[in-house]
Amino acid sequence: MTVISATGLPTSQDFNGRKILVVDDDPAAIRFIQEGLGSGYDFLSANDGEAALAAVRDNLPDIILCDVEMPKMNGLEVCRILKNNRRFSFIPFILMTAREESSFKVEGLDLGADDYLIKPLNLFELAARVRSMLRIKSLQDELISTNARLQDINEKLHELSMTDTLTGLYNRLFFTKRFAYEFQRSDRYRSPLTCVMIDIDHFKQVNDTHGHQVGDTVLKGVSKVLTAALRKVDILARYGGEEIVVVLPETPLERGAEVAERLRKSVAEAKFEHDGLAKPVGVTISVGVSAIPDETIKNDDDLLRVADAALYRAKEQGRNRVEIGA
Ligand code: GH3
Ligand code: MG
Ligand code: MG
Ligand code: MG
Repeated sequence: MTVISATGLPTSQDFNGRKILVVDDDPAAIRFIQEGLGSGYDFLSANDGEAALAAVRDNLPDIILCDVEMPKMNGLEVCRILKNNRRFSFIPFILMTAREESSFKVEGLDLGADDYLIKPLNLFELAARVRSMLRIKSLQDELISTNARLQDINEKLHELSMTDTLTGLYNRLFFTKRFAYEFQRSDRYRSPLTCVMIDIDHFKQVNDTHGHQVGDTVLKGVSKVLTAALRKVDILARYGGEEIVVVLPETPLERGAEVAERLRKSVAEAKFEHDGLAKPVGVTISVGVSAIPDETIKNDDDLLRVADAALYRAKEQGRNRVEIGA
């Protein structure tokens, strides 16, 4: 809304509290501008270039009105410095000069100044230019914050797209892609890679005895125990219902088998609580391990298949055990 200020000039209430930095080596000129623009704005002032830069840094104004002719650092230099700084370059910058030569204007605009006013200033024109710049600044601010929000949302979506909601582990889709990548990388650099397939023993019984919700709690708990027992570089994913797969980069078979045994033991020792349960539930896991280098393993599918076959043997041979290789 545009209203008439005490000075008779229109000011916009939408811009109440907007910070205007006025830079001039002549204090009378600063007063003239502040009085001319009227109340509603928050005014900051500086009498030289250095002070102007400090005021921008400390107060982040919404607009800068800057005299060109000042001793030491002139307005063009102030403009150049601010427009070259990503933190400040989006602040509208209006140059004011008593000199009308167009070469001056061109230089200022080329440096990135957003507007140019000739002294003596016409206060109506000045006020209108300020309002127009502040409108642009508002839209810019909105864009910047919308962008930041979108970026945030994008990051969250990206994370969600790779995550299994129940367990917080990577999901099958992410695993498949990452596993193929890790296989290729290990193959190319001839570095070892271990694959560990895990399946919870008699999990159906947990559901049947205590209900699906307790089953979910156990599945989450097992995921936590496994995560805690592994390194940050290890990739832990939910492969299916109660099947979990682990990829251990830079890990040969013997070492992978040790890790698998540690995982088995950690789960066997854990107990999982759930509201309404008289006593916490425990489960065991069966584990199959495969690794490269291995003559018979040509691709990621082979590596997975060998681990799966080993897991099957672990089940056959009584569960709660680790089986290795083909
Ligand atoms: P085994 O030792 O042979 O693996 O026996 P099992 O009972 O674990 O094997 P089976 O494959 O017969 O059963 C797996 C069960 O896991 C069946 C299914 O209901 C349960 N299950 C799969 N996903 C989930 C889940 O997200 N939550 C719960 N609560 N149960 C699940
Ligand atoms: Mg001056
Ligand atoms: Mg099972
Ligand atoms: Mg299963």
